[in-house]
Parts: sequence; C-alpha cells; structure tokens
Amino acid sequence: MGAAPKSRIGPRRRRLRRTHYKLFKLNLVPCETCDSLMMPHVVCQTCGSFRGVRYIGAVEEA
Ligand SMILES: [Zn+2]
Repeated sequence: MGAAPKSRIGPRRRRLRRTHYKLFKLNLVPCETCDSLMMPHVVCQTCGSFRGVRYIGAVEEA
C-alpha cells in the first residue's frame, strides 16, 4: 500500500496550501517593435524581433 491520508484536509488548510501554487505572475512587457505583450528577454512571438533585431521570419536589411 502506498501512502494514504490519515485524515481529511479541511478547507482552511487546503486553501492555505494552495496559496503557494501561483506565487509568481508571468511578467509580460510590451514589444519595442509591435507593442504586443511578450516575455522579457525572449524574441517576440508576434513579430519575431528582439531589441530592434529581427530573428524569426526575417528579411535581412543591409
Ligand atoms: Zn513584437
């Protein structure tokens, strides 16, 4: 037999445990190029740019 609960967890204790489930809200910043919300330090999924440089689907500008 595996571990089985000795007693039922009450609503207060259950809620207190779940307060730790989502401590950090996902941080989103507006893209410098297209102003859509994107993850910081990650190439924008909408326009494929990061800090003014296109990485995805780029038409290379000389
Ligand atoms: Zn963008």
